[in-house]
Amino acid sequence: EAKHNGRNRYELFRPELEAASRVRRQVEIDLRRALHRGELQMHYQPIIEKEGCRISGYEALIRWQHPVRGAIPPMDFIPIAEETGLIHELGARALNLACQEAATWANGATVAVNLSPVQFKNSELVKTVALALEDAGLPAHRLELEITESVLLANTEGNIRTLQALKDLGVRISLDDFGTGYSSLSYLRSFPFDKIKIDKSFVRDMGESREAMAIIRAITGLSSSLLIEITAEGVETEEQFRQLQVEGCSHFQGYLFGRPVAAEHRIEELDGRGAG
Ligand code: C2E
Ligand code: MG
Ligand code: MG
Ligand code: MG
Repeated sequence: EAKHNGRNRYELFRPELEAASRVRRQVEIDLRRALHRGELQMHYQPIIEKEGCRISGYEALIRWQHPVRGAIPPMDFIPIAEETGLIHELGARALNLACQEAATWANGATVAVNLSPVQFKNSELVKTVALALEDAGLPAHRLELEITESVLLANTEGNIRTLQALKDLGVRISLDDFGTGYSSLSYLRSFPFDKIKIDKSFVRDMGESREAMAIIRAITGLSSSLLIEITAEGVETEEQFRQLQVEGCSHFQGYLFGRPVAAEHRIEELDGRGAG
């Protein structure tokens, strides 16, 4: 009977599903090779501080230059790295590259590195971060770790302990893509985040959507009482920048100021754009 059920279930496998899993397997193989051949790089996008409109830091964003398929965006391989467990090695690589790069920056700018929720399943995460800092000789206060609220959904207590251990190293913790998904303002009470990043979808829609604007106001309103810095991501226009300043955002990131670029093209000063 069990065997029979098993066979029936196997027949439910559709060709598209097999094709999808073949693609996943191929990406996995390619990704392993990419890790060994150094096809993964970090790009850096400036984060602007309100006061004086200077660059206070950079977000490190992973890039895969595939020898045949060209540039593959993170959203096309991060989920597969998460499914296959390669995210642990990939995440450690991202941390190491970003810390080593940031250690060469003369102006003491911070570097922000994204952590996948899956990395929190690895008990070595705190050690990996500590080692990346030590190997690079980067002071912990110059590293920010960006997490999404999904980290607070599963294994909440364990993950909050891990976050606290990371914070005890001296690194700062940002809550990324805030306002999307299961977002709840109550998450802000479960952990003392240093920064909240307003998701770029709200910045994109704030001109037309009263809802988007209301959410931005709710976040900035709360931040002043909780003493959390607010970064607006996806700032593309002067109008968005002006309005977000009025709403009380302290940091800004987006194409208006600079796109993510390879380390050697990193801009160190604003050229006047958005300086008003
Ligand atoms: P994220 O952390 O929210 O990063 C911001 C994304 O917005 C980046 O996309 C960035 O290129 C894009 N962006 C910045 N300014 C603008 C703008 O003005 N307009 C628009 N439309 N987009 C803008 P990217 O580089 O494709 O990365 C996508 C996501 O992939 C990231 O979202 C992050 O969740 C993930 N990711 C990137 N690098 C890493 C990494 O090293 N590790 C992990 N775990 N995830 C990463
Ligand atoms: Mg991010
Ligand atoms: Mg984000
Ligand atoms: Mg985002």
